[in-house]
Amino acid sequence: MKVQYRACKKCKRLTPEKTCPVHGDEKTTTEWFGFLLITEPELSAIAKRTGITEPGMYAIKVRQ
Ligand SMILES: [Zn+2]
Repeated sequence: MKVQYRACKKCKRLTPEKTCPVHGDEKTTTEWFGFLLITEPELSAIAKRTGITEPGMYAIKVRQ
C-alpha cells in the first residue's frame, strides 16, 4: 500500500490527510518537492532557516 503524502501550503508539513493536522481548514496539496525530516528542530540549521519549530516530515518546496 502506497501512501500519497500531501503538503500543507502554510507550514509545509507532510500528511496523508487532505487538510493540515495543525491548521485545520488549510488545504494540503500533492504539488510539493523535496523531503525534509526534522527530528531536533533546536539543533537543525535547516529547521531554523525554514522556521520549523516542531519535529516532523516537511516538504522543501510547496507549489502555491
Ligand atoms: Zn499547516
